[in-house]
Amino acid sequence: MQGACWSRVEPTPVAAPRLLAWSAEVASLLDLTVEDVASSEFAEVFTGNRLLAGMQPYAACYGGHQFGHWAGQLGDGRAINLGEVLNRAGQRWDLQLKGAGPTPYARRADGRAVLRSSIREFLCSEAMHHLGVPTTRALSLTATGEAVLRDKMYDGNPRHEPGAVVCRVAPSFIRFGNFEIASSRGDHELLARLVDFTIARDFPEIVEADADARRARWFTSVCERSALLVAHWMRVGFVHGVMNTDNMSILGLTIDYGPYGWIDDYDPDWTPNTTDEEHRRYRFGQQAQIAHWNLTRLAEALAPLFATQAPLRDGLDRFVATYTREYGGMMAAKFGFLEPHAGDAESIAEGLGLLQRGEVDMTAFFRALATVDPKAPSLEPLRGAFYDEDALRRHGADFQHWLGRYAARVSADAPQDRVERMNAVNPRYVLRNYLAQEAIHLAEQGDLSRVHELLEVMRRPYDEQPEYARYAAKRPDWARNQPGCSMLSCSS
Ligand code: AMP
Ligand code: MG
Repeated sequence: MQGACWSRVEPTPVAAPRLLAWSAEVASLLDLTVEDVASSEFAEVFTGNRLLAGMQPYAACYGGHQFGHWAGQLGDGRAINLGEVLNRAGQRWDLQLKGAGPTPYARRADGRAVLRSSIREFLCSEAMHHLGVPTTRALSLTATGEAVLRDKMYDGNPRHEPGAVVCRVAPSFIRFGNFEIASSRGDHELLARLVDFTIARDFPEIVEADADARRARWFTSVCERSALLVAHWMRVGFVHGVMNTDNMSILGLTIDYGPYGWIDDYDPDWTPNTTDEEHRRYRFGQQAQIAHWNLTRLAEALAPLFATQAPLRDGLDRFVATYTREYGGMMAAKFGFLEPHAGDAESIAEGLGLLQRGEVDMTAFFRALATVDPKAPSLEPLRGAFYDEDALRRHGADFQHWLGRYAARVSADAPQDRVERMNAVNPRYVLRNYLAQEAIHLAEQGDLSRVHELLEVMRRPYDEQPEYARYAAKRPDWARNQPGCSMLSCSS
């Protein structure tokens, strides 16, 4: 679509809109009451059967680098923006329906989404927010009452699945790819307008009068936000799975929940995405390098707007500096180190290496580590985080050795509040792959109770919540190599 940033399009009505789940926090951001949500109008509007006064729906045009290669025009193929809401607090929120029918960017696909992927997006958006990770939000999950045909494992066995729509909410859904597409067409005027629009609307803190200085500050800010985002992913054990430039938010939000996954046993080489199995481009441990690569593509797209490349190079350098600082700080906090000490980085790297070799559950480990008594450091509290008794036997001595030095290290600073400090950054509950899969299985049989329960647990991921202890359990054996748990396709 030459010369365009977006196209007007209306959602395609469906047979039987029905509300399955909603987020109370997001509803209140939008000044919606419980009565509003309970009305039949709510399900109709947020499944795309009805528009409210003032809504002018559109789909955005964007391109992207997918798996390292320029893919040309992509665009919102099944996402339709309903418009923006100004709430009573003066905040502005964009509303977007995912799965509400095809758009001019659908490229012959159906514009729909299946229940399983919609549950994953709905739950994980809210779980990430409560973990303190920048993310788009989710207001609602609705059923369409229509079937969607998908070949889930790409093995020639398509089947009908229930269709669903998620209403996503964010200050902006603009991606790196929105800038790339304008630049790739040599439309520098459109590119400049989109940049200046984005700065004016979404970066109010950038007030430089000079346009060049303003754009340079902005690019640096995008680099900083992206660095902070990935550092948080590494902190909580989140693997995005498809870090194409069309899935990179200009605000540094986690966006487009597809074949994402959570680290069970700590493994930097793991990727949940079956499409990426061979090269593992988007594996856990490579996310920072990929974000930097993506920012470099964005810098190239923006280059025509800059007289010299220096500000873009500075921005990219700022990514490295910010990531190094944030990742280092967050990892130190996870281990309970307060004041920086010489040797901390080595101790952290060694600890993480042990987690990988010993096949240890990341989330369970850090909660258990907080309970290790620095006066009598024992492996006992950590036992439950191991997946394999043999690995524990093989690496037990190394762990014990490391733990001894660890105990001495944490004794050096404010040991009395170490448990609280560690538990404030190490979640007890994350949306483990198998937990989402169990909830999906039940929901496909009409039972939404698990979706509701997980939404509730994930509201307070750092709290003990003993009544929900079963959702803190490490991955059960059945889920080890199970589709939907250990691996996911892009089919959604
Ligand atoms: P994703 O891998 O979900 O980020 O999607 C990549 C591109 O494919 C985006 O432009 C999507 O809008 C588009 N897309 C994915 N699934 C569909 C679908 N069922 N209908 C229309 N467009 C789709
Ligand atoms: Mg996408």
